[in-house]
Amino acid sequence: MIIVLRPEAPAETAQEILERISAKGLKPLHMPGAERVVLGALGDERILAELALDGHPMVESIKPILAPYKLVSRELHPHDTVVPFGRVAIGGRGFCVIAGPCAVETESQMRATAAAAKAAGAHGLRAGAFKPRTSPYAFQGHGVEGLKLLRATGDEFDLPVVTEVMETGDVEIVAQYADALQIGARNMQNFSLLRAAGRCGKPVLLKRGMSAKVEELLLAAEYLLAEGNEQVILCERGIRTFETAMRNTLDLNAIPYIKQKTHLPVLVDPSHGTGVRDLVIPMALAAAACGADGLLVEMHEDPAVAWSDGAQSLYPEGFEALMAALAPVAAAVGRQLA
Ligand code: PEP
Ligand code: MN
Repeated sequence: MIIVLRPEAPAETAQEILERISAKGLKPLHMPGAERVVLGALGDERILAELALDGHPMVESIKPILAPYKLVSRELHPHDTVVPFGRVAIGGRGFCVIAGPCAVETESQMRATAAAAKAAGAHGLRAGAFKPRTSPYAFQGHGVEGLKLLRATGDEFDLPVVTEVMETGDVEIVAQYADALQIGARNMQNFSLLRAAGRCGKPVLLKRGMSAKVEELLLAAEYLLAEGNEQVILCERGIRTFETAMRNTLDLNAIPYIKQKTHLPVLVDPSHGTGVRDLVIPMALAAAACGADGLLVEMHEDPAVAWSDGAQSLYPEGFEALMAALAPVAAAVGRQLA
């Protein structure tokens, strides 16, 4: 429920109402604005009704938050959230490109790939140290050694780093080395992992599950915000459909839809979204055109020898071509490829 106070309401009124909300066991929210103070009350709807604030002389209006995801909803928070990622801002007017290999492999692979990413104008570096692989016999990632190598590479090339966390017990160590934690498609509804990441103090990049509806993605994000973490970035990475010609079907409908429903920034991953290198650049441009706040893209110094996802990884030259092509597209939709 959203409670808008009258412009002349004194600070004590807000305090008094917030205490009434807490006393009922509901979650109180305080959102002071330039002209009016807005309060929120979250929780069981029957108890919300008992608050009986309609008669309060300092209450201007009360309206329910209709979306099931309350904190994530634009109804509660009309302005875009900008999430800090190292010194980079995700959301707002900028368009942010995070590039890197699927997995941390070797020091020379990481340094060569990061050098190419930086030279072409990437804003951040991605690479997995804990890899969710379909087969238990495939390369599973270097674990903590991979985190260290990623951190060192990010520092050397002055790029903030994002990497996946798969287990609740690893949240702390990943948060120690990374500027943002990635929760992958396979873990989008791992609720204990979401709760732990919601308490980690670092931004979280939450990818859409391969069979998840947008509402389920937004409710998964609600878990993070409900634990107190407002630094959440969503990521569309393709879904499973009847189409098998490509690895996934990149759902670009979801981008303007998600932007209408939530204040959180949303990235597009055209690498997992297509699974096909030649489709990555056109879909990345389409993502920028339809309002995404940035890209998460796989790029490898030599995709032919990549330990995972080589077929969808751009060559450094391809990444450079992408960055050159992106600038006018971003500008055309009012975004800056800073
Ligand atoms: C990845 O980003 O390397 C990855 C495993 O992504 P997803 O969770 O979207 O499959
Ligand atoms: Mn990958």
